[in-house]
Amino acid sequence: MNIILLAPPAAGKGTQSELLVNEYNLNHISTGDLLRNAAKEDTEFGNNLKSMMESGKLVTDDIVLEVLNNYLDNTTNMNLLLDGFPRNTYQAKVLDEILSKKNTKIDYVFLLDVDKEILLERITGRRLCKSCGRVYNVNIESLRPIEENVCDKCKTELTQRSDDNKETFDVRYNEYLEQTSPLIEYYQNKNILYKIDSIGTIDEIFNQIKNIINN
Ligand code: AMP
Repeated sequence: MNIILLAPPAAGKGTQSELLVNEYNLNHISTGDLLRNAAKEDTEFGNNLKSMMESGKLVTDDIVLEVLNNYLDNTTNMNLLLDGFPRNTYQAKVLDEILSKKNTKIDYVFLLDVDKEILLERITGRRLCKSCGRVYNVNIESLRPIEENVCDKCKTELTQRSDDNKETFDVRYNEYLEQTSPLIEYYQNKNILYKIDSIGTIDEIFNQIKNIINN
């Protein structure tokens, strides 16, 4: 089973990914995480990538496809949960080709729809555990860590992403509207788009997704 989570920044892709991976044993692929990893390299490439990401703009298709293909070449679990990919129609078409070569296809595209004002509040409160990847949010009661600024799971100090601020959010949100939102129609035309009401609790949102998969 292959799933895409389609959503504006901070709509809850990371949180729902963790739940989906545990429930269905999926291979979680976040191109944002793969790129952040590549950007750690202290080379011209790594530094350029870092500043591209910090601007809030999308990274070029060539770079994203290279990190994605590298990852896929070294993975065996082909039940994919794609988080943050594809981000434009070109990437969606390339993904269709990659999957068709492996005799598989996308089964579900879940659209997590959240208003811009709510996203901004979430983005400024988001905190991450660098060690296990768990996502917290100090502005959402149910997502606060038990101990301030420390991961519940592995006790690592939490960090904030350098692109989680208001200025970069505006750019990222515009990139979503201009480049990514046309994918809604792309997948609607393939009859695999499912709109999820993402205002409820994490469990309510997850239950909507599970009901669609399990029925
Ligand atoms: P994310 O963690 O998904 O919010 O992604 C963080 C940043 O990584 C984005 O703002 C983009 O600069 C870059 N990025 C992640 N995935 C893609 C993609 N599929 N295409 C282009 N840029 C991407």
